[in-house]
Amino acid sequence: MAIQTQNPATGEVVKSFEAHSDAQVDEAIKASLAAHKILRDWSFEKRAKAMHKAAEILEDEAEAFGKIMTLEMGKTHKSAIAEAKKCAWVCRHYAENAEDYLADDVVKTDASESYRKYLPIGPVLAVMPWNYPFWQVMRFAAPALMAGNTGLLKHASNVPQCALAMEDIFKRAGFPDGAFKALLISGSKVERILRDDRVRAATLTGSEPAGASVASICGEEIKPTVLELGGSDPFIIMPSADIEKAVKVGTTARTQNNGQSCIAAKRFFVHADIYDDVKARFVKAFEALKIGDPMAEGTDIGPLVNKDAVETITKQVENAIKDGAKRVTGAEPIKGKGFYFKPGILEDIPASSDAYHEEIFGPVMLLFKVESLDEALEIANASPFGLGSSIWTTDKGEQDKAITRIEAGATFVNSMTSSDPRLPFGGVKHSGYGRELAAEGIHAFCNVKTVSIA
Ligand code: NAP
Repeated sequence: MAIQTQNPATGEVVKSFEAHSDAQVDEAIKASLAAHKILRDWSFEKRAKAMHKAAEILEDEAEAFGKIMTLEMGKTHKSAIAEAKKCAWVCRHYAENAEDYLADDVVKTDASESYRKYLPIGPVLAVMPWNYPFWQVMRFAAPALMAGNTGLLKHASNVPQCALAMEDIFKRAGFPDGAFKALLISGSKVERILRDDRVRAATLTGSEPAGASVASICGEEIKPTVLELGGSDPFIIMPSADIEKAVKVGTTARTQNNGQSCIAAKRFFVHADIYDDVKARFVKAFEALKIGDPMAEGTDIGPLVNKDAVETITKQVENAIKDGAKRVTGAEPIKGKGFYFKPGILEDIPASSDAYHEEIFGPVMLLFKVESLDEALEIANASPFGLGSSIWTTDKGEQDKAITRIEAGATFVNSMTSSDPRLPFGGVKHSGYGRELAAEGIHAFCNVKTVSIA
């Protein structure tokens, strides 16, 4: 894939980048290892000072960083500014909590002293997607650097300016040279890096094929991995729910980030008693969304990331309809300049249709009428994915059942799935393994050393 900035709002290629050569990549790995050897000896206080500075830069320049994100992948500028600010939050979270998360953990044994010690492991390769081009990277980088690891970033080929901006943030924040390096390379160059002994682990956020490839190479190389892959999150609405709020939040949950979020609610299960009412409200909410220039203040939905995305989602919708699904509203490409797609709703999706099982990575809601919570849970769990989930009910029994029975990395009750630096984030089944954020996120790439002193 060409490494370039193409504005999804116009289709224009704004800037092209030459890929880094193997020699340049080798230099970056060398610098990353050298930086790790410096960073591992820094005190938490010194690391935290630099991480707070990174947070300050992100906040002070959120507007400019937001413009780069919007230009490269089409999210609305207001949501891009919010993303830069959320990155400042994760930096501060780990600046303030890393020392506690990584404190020696004393365990009473027969020895005079014994404890767990969390030590860094070295350079980690992060393969990242374009959809939250700053957030996905920062939620890896902040804990990694606070633990004394270093980061090599292979960002998606369509967001090179975001990648370079992030390298620059850590440089300006005062981290050692090479502590965080952006590699402008294609996916085909990843294997060579994974097989390099100096690179100790990998994390990938993206699609299943990319995750499976990285994990299998790391398997051969005996290197740990964290995989954050796709999702087709259920959003269940039961009769006791606050319907007005569920519809408002559900609309955001499906269409945020122009519908391109791993934790977007994608399959909506609505109890038969309230189905017609809920459907009518969703139609009204979807039809009221303002689609247009992502830089404009009032825009709710910008373009999809590229032409391929429009074509893929259009095909998924057409196939579902061929299989028997009904189009309730929208769900079609918009003709003209840029990669625009009208958010929409499908219902009556047959179990035999691919749409029943696959992820639709765009603003298309799949609506299911269910007779009971058990039926909703059965269809929800029939998915190969298990990332987030959301249930809307005031019935404690239903809440408990959903919390224990939904096969997902997270269940949110009466709110939408979201990520928060204080809570672990990750999936089960084909949504991946391992966790980011919270204590789990910083432990993921540590050597949990057992220390025993006789
Ligand atoms: P993608 O095609 O897998 O790309 C993600 C990254 O992997 C890019 O940097 C890409 O590089 C690289 N890549 C692709 N194939 C590779 C290979 N064979 N070996 C090594 N690297 C490879 O995914 P995407 O289309 O950008 O992102 C959408 C997917 O990500 C969706 O399924 C979404 O649900 C998932 N996602 C998951 C999470 C989560 O936290 N679970 C968060 C966000 C997104 P190039 O750009 O150069 O191809």
